[in-house]
Amino acid sequence: MSARTSRSANKGSRFRLRFWGVRGSYPTVDPKTLGVGGNTSCVEVEVDGRRLIFDAGTGIIALGKEFCSGALPPPPAYVFLSHTHIDHVMGLCFFEPLLTPKAHSFILGPGASRGALTRSLRHLTHSHLFPVSLDELKGKKEIFSLAGGEIIRFGSSARRPKIERSPPADGAPSEELMITTCKSSAHPLNGVMLYRVHYRSKSVVYATDIEQQDGGYPEIIDFIRGADLLIHDAQYLRDEYLSRDKPRKGWGHSTIEMAAEVAQKAGVKRLALFHHEPTHDDKIMKKIERQAKQLFPSTVIAHEGMQIDLL
Ligand SMILES: [Zn+2]
Ligand SMILES: [Zn+2]
Repeated sequence: MSARTSRSANKGSRFRLRFWGVRGSYPTVDPKTLGVGGNTSCVEVEVDGRRLIFDAGTGIIALGKEFCSGALPPPPAYVFLSHTHIDHVMGLCFFEPLLTPKAHSFILGPGASRGALTRSLRHLTHSHLFPVSLDELKGKKEIFSLAGGEIIRFGSSARRPKIERSPPADGAPSEELMITTCKSSAHPLNGVMLYRVHYRSKSVVYATDIEQQDGGYPEIIDFIRGADLLIHDAQYLRDEYLSRDKPRKGWGHSTIEMAAEVAQKAGVKRLALFHHEPTHDDKIMKKIERQAKQLFPSTVIAHEGMQIDLL
């Protein structure tokens, strides 16, 4: 599958993904990596007239500029953080809506208690690291801590997301836009949040920074079951993961084989490999794509600028 343009004429009926950053760990500017792209994690999902953003790696910087490029106040930005490791929040302080007085951002992400996510993000703007505090950033912002197991909905016109604490009654496909969450401990030290966006019986799962166990984690396989698209961490080659000199086991990331295995077991329709190792240049990524397609034929390597339409 290659990047495609939307067939939907009506903006409200879109369910479109765009990758703004696909690297793991740190950004790279090595020209040999720029075919796939050098920015860290950021995926935009335009759905039901709203713009949802998954992670605030350096990819969010260009997205934020696009958000604020028109004459009108920008639309509300819904930023869902998988966790607050630096590669996933590195772009947040440069996200234009947070610097723009008329803009409104909602930031959601893992936090053990009310206010926990706000406290984590305050570290990012500590005076030793950044000259402006989180509270001084001019854009309006609301921050919500998630525990996992929530359903997030949007009323027809309301801006503020409604967060329900109860798990879904069943796995039936949803017609209305909703986001379900799953907290996994398969990433050191504090775990990671997985998100599934449902709309008009289609769904996409964002599952980065996950180190699968042999055979995959059953609760994760259940969460991603039947998704139309699974975006999954695939940072390492098996040789790197098992290397004698520098084994990556326990570092919190999957191999291509692990991602393909859970995609297969969960019966997802398509798999996008994501959170690429920054030392893997475009040549290596081509090899990985060929290898991955042999394991799970409907696989693509997520690259910067890639667009996928689910409707
Ligand atoms: Zn990461
Ligand atoms: Zn991480």
